[in-house]
Amino acid sequence: MNAIETSFASPNDSGLPNEWDVIVIGAGPAGSLTARQLALAGQEVLLLDAKAFPRDKVCGGYLNPRAVRVLESIDLLSKVAGENCSVTCEIELIASGQRARFSLPPGRVIGRPTFDLALVQSAQAAGVTVMTGAPAVVEASQHYSSRTVTVTHNNTRQSYRARIVVCADGLARTSIRHLTEFPIDTVPDSRVGIGAIVNDDSERWPASEITMVVARHGYVGISRINDTQLNVAAAVEPTALAHTAPAEIAAQVFMDAGVPLPKNLKSATWRGTPPLTSNPRHVASQRVFLVGDAAGYVEPFTGEGMSAAFESAMAITPIIAQAVHDWAPARGQQWQETHRRIIRNRGTTCRKLAWVLRRPWATSLAMTACRTMPAIAARVIANTTQSLPASSLKVAGIL
Ligand SMILES: Cc1cc2nc3c(=O)[nH]c(=O)nc-3n(C[C@H](O)[C@H](O)[C@H](O)COP(=O)(O)OP(=O)(O)OC[C@H]3O[C@@H](n4cnc5c(N)ncnc54)[C@H](O)[C@@H]3O)c2cc1C
Repeated sequence: MNAIETSFASPNDSGLPNEWDVIVIGAGPAGSLTARQLALAGQEVLLLDAKAFPRDKVCGGYLNPRAVRVLESIDLLSKVAGENCSVTCEIELIASGQRARFSLPPGRVIGRPTFDLALVQSAQAAGVTVMTGAPAVVEASQHYSSRTVTVTHNNTRQSYRARIVVCADGLARTSIRHLTEFPIDTVPDSRVGIGAIVNDDSERWPASEITMVVARHGYVGISRINDTQLNVAAAVEPTALAHTAPAEIAAQVFMDAGVPLPKNLKSATWRGTPPLTSNPRHVASQRVFLVGDAAGYVEPFTGEGMSAAFESAMAITPIIAQAVHDWAPARGQQWQETHRRIIRNRGTTCRKLAWVLRRPWATSLAMTACRTMPAIAARVIANTTQSLPASSLKVAGIL
């Protein structure tokens, strides 16, 4: 992997053009796929990421059928989620002293370091110029036909111009911190994400199954990437993190629920996220478009985050391809409307689930209802994981 990393541009490269059709900031699923699709549509694209790749990201790693469908439709699934992933078809839910198993429409479990690297490479193969180790901000100043993006590295600053800037920098949204046109609403008691890739080869966590453990301080998801590694990712109360290390909090959730700890849980390298529930009031303004988590967070119970990122990347591509040549505020409104359509039905179901999981009495009632009437659970799962009908995907520009 290191040999591949050296083939990306670094902020020290002085030979890169200063002007681009599109600059995409953030090389997660949303940014990499948007950059790739734009390059395939003929645009000159610079993709920037603050981190060196491969890099990890807090995530359960579950690619639900919606995500799988998008990747299959562009012949990318086997390239980015080929060998180093498992196929999963069941979810085990442990909450309020109850345990239940439900079928999931088959999806994949991937490890984010290798998966995200493969996505970046797919963008590069399509003609995108990729620069890593390059934290970027969009400057507030506006030009007649472009925006300026500044990359800061080792105390030096390099500026690039682009006709369109796509911010796909996740929940932190650091790239738009100078832009007053994107006020962010953060839910005051929002949970935060913590996660790690944990070395565990035990049979307790089979590849075919995702486990979700719900307890007082939050919920933890466990999924098997391969024979030796698990994704462990949790959404927890921020107050719990004030005096306790992430590994201890995750361990507490397992112990509260009476579930044995995965091996090496405490010795793994843990990462965190900013508050999860935050949304910008607008997703586009004056040649700047937001996509993926940067455009609004979806509770990630059943693989919502990456499928929304991929569907958004596909839907925004034709809008940006037009905006490069012919920017008008109507393009921003078009994205606002399309984004709302893609996110709407997920948001409602996921917000309801989040509400239930934060209240022990409601979780207990929901578990009892789902165990006695499995059709209810099946409906919720289908609502969040199944692909929309092809006709709806075409209308939204996804297929
Ligand atoms: C606990 C938890 C569990 C989850 N489990 C799942 C799951 O099982 N399945 C699922 O589909 N989703 C899951 N998600 C959600 C999923 O991780 C996100 O929705 C998804 O990663 C969003 O992709 P993105 O490309 O928008 O952002 P990200 O993946 O966050 O990528 C953003 C990129 O931007 C870069 N960046 C940030 N700031 C800058 C800057 N200023 N300049 C340059 N680069 C920058 C970062 O380095 C990063 O590479 C989970 C989330 C959490 C918190």
